[in-house]
Amino acid sequence: MNRDTICVQGGYTPGNGEPRQIPIIQSTTFKYNTSEDMGKLFDLEADGYFYSRLQNPTCDAVARKIAALEGGTAAMLTSSGQAANFFALFNICQCGDHIVSSSTIYGGTFNLISVTMAKMGVEVTFVESTCSEEELNAAFRPNTKAVFGETIANPALTVLDIEKFAKAAHAHGVPLIMDNTFPTPVNCQPIKWGADIVTHSTTKYMDGHGACIGGAIVDSGNFDWMAHADKFPGLCTPDESYHGITYAERFGKEGAFITKATAQLMRDFGCCQSPQSAFILNLGLESLHVRMARHCANALAVAQFLEKHPKVAYVDYCGLESSPYHALAQKYMPNGSCGVVSFGLAGGREAASTFMKSLRLAAIETHVADARTCCLNPASSTHRQMNDEQLKAAGVPAELVRMSCGLEASEDLIADIAQALDKV
Ligand SMILES: *Cc1c(COP(=O)(O)O)cnc(C)c1O
Repeated sequence: MNRDTICVQGGYTPGNGEPRQIPIIQSTTFKYNTSEDMGKLFDLEADGYFYSRLQNPTCDAVARKIAALEGGTAAMLTSSGQAANFFALFNICQCGDHIVSSSTIYGGTFNLISVTMAKMGVEVTFVESTCSEEELNAAFRPNTKAVFGETIANPALTVLDIEKFAKAAHAHGVPLIMDNTFPTPVNCQPIKWGADIVTHSTTKYMDGHGACIGGAIVDSGNFDWMAHADKFPGLCTPDESYHGITYAERFGKEGAFITKATAQLMRDFGCCQSPQSAFILNLGLESLHVRMARHCANALAVAQFLEKHPKVAYVDYCGLESSPYHALAQKYMPNGSCGVVSFGLAGGREAASTFMKSLRLAAIETHVADARTCCLNPASSTHRQMNDEQLKAAGVPAELVRMSCGLEASEDLIADIAQALDKV
């Protein structure tokens, strides 16, 4: 099926007389006739449901759609994007292990890796997303277990050279995990370019209406865990907490990663998505391909307008030819990137503040990728504890405004921005 068709119909095929829309199975548990029947599920010998913390039919149908969209073999939903990235990393890293990560990643993920996972004994080396192959290769250690990056980083909007990072990861016998939240599989499928695991904050474009927090993990089915069995004992040796199952043997390359993440991490941490949220997420997925095109068209129109405006010092948008990431974006996302544009007001912090409060359509919010246009001045909100020097070093100077272009008419968005710039 074409990706557009998967957005609409993937993951769920009703039988004769069954509901057309994915049913919301709002049930914590499932009934069995004999204890033996249920025992087979616990032993992972039969497929089926017993408790919605582990698996639920509504969530599974939506996960199947996301797996198909990314071109993967298996997927799971999580309660948030944070949970998805934590599970993806912790499924193969433990105390004493090491991660190589791009430094331009979402702030929440940066904290997760550099502070919280550090407390668990997992170390990290951050590399610039634009680093050379030599710098990248030099970041690996014998105990490195994964490479992490974002296709388009939030909020820095850098574009990662997926093939370069995949090549380095594979040369060192470890998988590349890509957070593909901003482009979505409509604009980029990282698996095609060598990524092994793909994660999402479905809270963003996939939901697209600011309705539900959620996350997803997709396995490409390509990484050969058994070929690097010494590095991944969790997948390649018996799991004593799960009846001595060896995931990579029993479920193969296609299923081992997601089965282990479900059977161990979801069992123990319980960051599951509710069936209600999965249903709402699926409504968003049904129009994802239509919405992404409009988000991108609006962002490009806004970026082009801003670039010519005398009160705007610079514009970061990889769809602009002036962007240092234009060539990479053309390679990995020829049909469009995302709806988020960053720009700096020539008048500095004060100008940014006047501009923001003069906007009528664009709301000030800590959110992106919504149907409604929203914007944020990191210096006065998410990064307000930093001084001007620190802001600059973090890549979010005081005059920076991040605008997430929604689905409104681009003329209205531009007229709103123009009147707000007039007030500056
Ligand atoms: C928002 C976001 C996250 C975190 O997702 P939540 O759903 O808010 O937990 C992770 N990665 C990226 C790229 C994001 O934009």
